[in-house]
Amino acid sequence: MKNILDAPFMAEMIRTATEMYRHGWDERNSGNISLMLDEKEIAGCPDTENVLRTVPTGFTVPELDGKVFLVTGTGKYFKNVQYAPEVNLGIVRLRDRGRQADLLWGLSDGGLLTSEFPAHMMSHAARLETDPLNRVVMHSHPANLLAMTFVHTLDERAFTRTLWQMHTESLLVFPEGVGVLPWMLCGTNEIGEATAEKMKTTRLVVWGLHGIYGAGRNLDETFGLIEAAEKAAEIYLKTAHLPRINTITDEQLHRLEQRFGIKAREGYLD
Ligand SMILES: [Zn+2]
Repeated sequence: MKNILDAPFMAEMIRTATEMYRHGWDERNSGNISLMLDEKEIAGCPDTENVLRTVPTGFTVPELDGKVFLVTGTGKYFKNVQYAPEVNLGIVRLRDRGRQADLLWGLSDGGLLTSEFPAHMMSHAARLETDPLNRVVMHSHPANLLAMTFVHTLDERAFTRTLWQMHTESLLVFPEGVGVLPWMLCGTNEIGEATAEKMKTTRLVVWGLHGIYGAGRNLDETFGLIEAAEKAAEIYLKTAHLPRINTITDEQLHRLEQRFGIKAREGYLD
């Protein structure tokens, strides 16, 4: 591979950012994605052989020492990723117990890594403990999920149960449920640590009055997780003000478990 822009992971990253923008999840410069790369995915590519500059991360994640990530840049618009990937994206390798990020490619206008880099890296470390195949962390602002956090209790069990009840396939897509955090200051190590703690047991973490974090083994899976939760939230908002005549019962959710060989989070079904 001579040009990093020809790499399959790059095409997939660009397509995902573009699609997230088109879904209305990432207005202006919002949203961020990080994709962990295998060394062999960039091996032999002259574009990534040198360290262009080094950025202190402001936190420690020894588990990720030496890991390489393709990430979105701070202040960058998802809408523009497809037209100028080398400006809006960057490839970094962590070192010094995760305290330094060596930029190998991208952010060619001198830009910096996503302001949510702490939450991303801490979430990667947490997910890898649970699932060694996890590769992606994604943050966005889907309107229905965000709206739901204004009118629904933020209790995790209740929030999860509502999403499961709004669409038959919700339970199949996220049987472990969703984590929910109250409003917290974004961009900080504190919200990063709180998100990572939730990520030990779930791939979806709702940030109350802000948005959602998703994690997964690839970009499609992670995008699909957020897409499925967002659809359930949309159905909730379309029906929340109307009399509920029908609902998906716990007995029916148990039948889904049996039919599809999945297990709902312990204690979430009656
Ligand atoms: Zn955000």
